[in-house]
Amino acid sequence: MKIIWTLTDESPRLASLTLLPLVQAFAALADVKVEARDISLPARIRAQFPERLTPSQRQADGMIELARLTSSPSANIIKLPNMSASVPQIKAAITELQAQGVNVPDYPGAVVTDEDRDIRRRYGKTKGSAVNPVLREGNSDRRAPSSVKSYARKHPHHMGRWSRDSRTNVATMSGDDFRANETTWVAPAADTLAIKFIDESGVARVLRDAVPVSAGDVVDASVLRVGPLRTFLDAQIQRAKTEGLLFSVHLKATMMKVSDPIIFGHTIQAFFPAVFERYGAELAAAGYTPDHGLASLLSGLDRLPHGAEISQAFQDGIDDGPALAMVDVARGITNLHAPNDVIIDASMPAMIRTSGHMWGPDGRERDTLAVIPDSSYAGIYQKVIDDCRTHGAFNPATLGSVSNVGLMAQKAEEYGSHDKTFELDDAGIVQVTNAAGDVILHHQVAAGDIWRACHTTDIALRDWVTLAVSRARASGTPAMFWLDPTRAHDRALTDVVRRYLKTENTEGLDIQVLAPEEAMEYSLERIRRGEDTISVTGNLLRDYLTDLFPIMELGTSSRMLSVVPLLGGGRVFETGAGGTAPALARAFEETGHFGWDSTGELLALAESLQFVADRTKNPNAAILSETLSEAIEQLLDLGLTPASGNAVIDTRESHLHLASLWYLALRHTPIAARAAQITPTAVLSTLRQVSHTTLEDRGTPWAGTPLWNDVPLSV
Ligand code: MG
Repeated sequence: MKIIWTLTDESPRLASLTLLPLVQAFAALADVKVEARDISLPARIRAQFPERLTPSQRQADGMIELARLTSSPSANIIKLPNMSASVPQIKAAITELQAQGVNVPDYPGAVVTDEDRDIRRRYGKTKGSAVNPVLREGNSDRRAPSSVKSYARKHPHHMGRWSRDSRTNVATMSGDDFRANETTWVAPAADTLAIKFIDESGVARVLRDAVPVSAGDVVDASVLRVGPLRTFLDAQIQRAKTEGLLFSVHLKATMMKVSDPIIFGHTIQAFFPAVFERYGAELAAAGYTPDHGLASLLSGLDRLPHGAEISQAFQDGIDDGPALAMVDVARGITNLHAPNDVIIDASMPAMIRTSGHMWGPDGRERDTLAVIPDSSYAGIYQKVIDDCRTHGAFNPATLGSVSNVGLMAQKAEEYGSHDKTFELDDAGIVQVTNAAGDVILHHQVAAGDIWRACHTTDIALRDWVTLAVSRARASGTPAMFWLDPTRAHDRALTDVVRRYLKTENTEGLDIQVLAPEEAMEYSLERIRRGEDTISVTGNLLRDYLTDLFPIMELGTSSRMLSVVPLLGGGRVFETGAGGTAPALARAFEETGHFGWDSTGELLALAESLQFVADRTKNPNAAILSETLSEAIEQLLDLGLTPASGNAVIDTRESHLHLASLWYLALRHTPIAARAAQITPTAVLSTLRQVSHTTLEDRGTPWAGTPLWNDVPLSV
């Protein structure tokens, strides 16, 4: 059984330059091969256009190979954080590739010809969360490894104090959103569904054809109405201004890549009503859309006849409006800059950690109105804010832990990100029909409304319940299903969960179903008492909670163990959180210092090696796994990772220390003699070959690393 190591973009890719050769050298001690597969954005783009490239530029589609592998019981994949590319990022990658002589086509600004449509479609495959839904052929098991949790308790990270007078709050729609308009249908038998739009004159158009479903699959549909959305947004902008709060909007445009950029675009239009009233037609005619963010609107305005005027009108809008929360004050980047800059699962925990503050244009922290338009999951953040207002900031030294068992297999609850979400051009009816032509779900829509459907398979649901029970059993921890009785989809899931729980052995286990807001209160009460709880959630809460709780407990979500037990019997080990990936790569380019923390990759590797050991009865792989875990714990304890409060240490240096500690841990094992083949010289020369700036150049005292040099090379 080999291990597949994915090469992605930005910081994790840079870090792999030094880490992967070390990993390969150590894994070889147990005769385990570690092979790289390139699933970076440029590689995915190149794979889309083989006919335009020279043979040497062509790129096999690593995603197709990995997708195939996920059904194999021998799949053992370490998935590093990858980029969920926005259109501006795809365009930047295209420019970079073209500059290197790779003849990929420009991104079509407007779709006129069939060729434009084809090119758009191919680029569409690289957009947003293009990787995760393919690899996640299983549900998710995420938790803080004990080494990481005990480190966090011993070395609690800084948390901003909370005041009882904090005026920070969440604003969310009170109706006519995805939560309120949701309808659901459980397939009584295998069937084939279609999604149709019927306009007001009765003409039908197929939006999506041939969606196969099996008996027991849950299908739901909902619509977010753009009229009420705009009314809501207008009111929040006014409210932030009147109350003197920072205005911020929190979406997930990466994962919900169809719906959320549109909602983001409406936020920009609501913030700059005068601009769009006066120049909206001109901007649209020139191919500008607010959905790509303010930066994309402002860039190239000088090419428009009224460019200077429009630019001034935007500035007037900023001057008139409430103060905007900033992403990067020094660089003048606001919350409205680009749809992917503020991602709710990272931005809300960051705000909660910082006393409920975000950064204002003057570079000072202030109370914030956090606008989360759809109310499906907004309430859980309000509960955390209320809790901090009452009880003060969380104390990482004493906090318990909330782990997660998340539903995500077979694209379960991939809301808004896939081929079943549509922005309607006209008023009419959207229908879901079965093979017999019966309408099973339908919504009346107005022009501009965003309609979405999603499909959750019975197989995924059954596996999710089983995984929850097995985690509750293995950890001896209460498990809570977070399901909302006011939502149609969640009511259907509650029935399924109760039915499948009856088929499991739950004797002696504490397993309950609670509404998300109640489950949040319950879990917060427990972690404040130092107690652990398993949150068992759908796909979105999986994503949100596995950032929220780790960021409170550990200061980062990058050190979570994230295992995907695949339905086919293999495993994917996901590593880290990619949120800091772009900034750290940029800092490396500017300063030569690289601060990416590879602990997540290392934890995943330890699990992946253990999986090899269990599956192939390879005792040496088990030794590598155990010794690596010891080495990680020491690495953290000694402060030898960039994220352990050590701002000086460089990623490459940290890898060197890891190699040293791992080697030391192997000294008293049966493979010590083999380990002696990995000499410091070999490790250092690997590091030198691959480092852009060598450690020597920076005067790093690596040469005197006592941990390594004091050790006899053979035992
Ligand atoms: Mg997340």
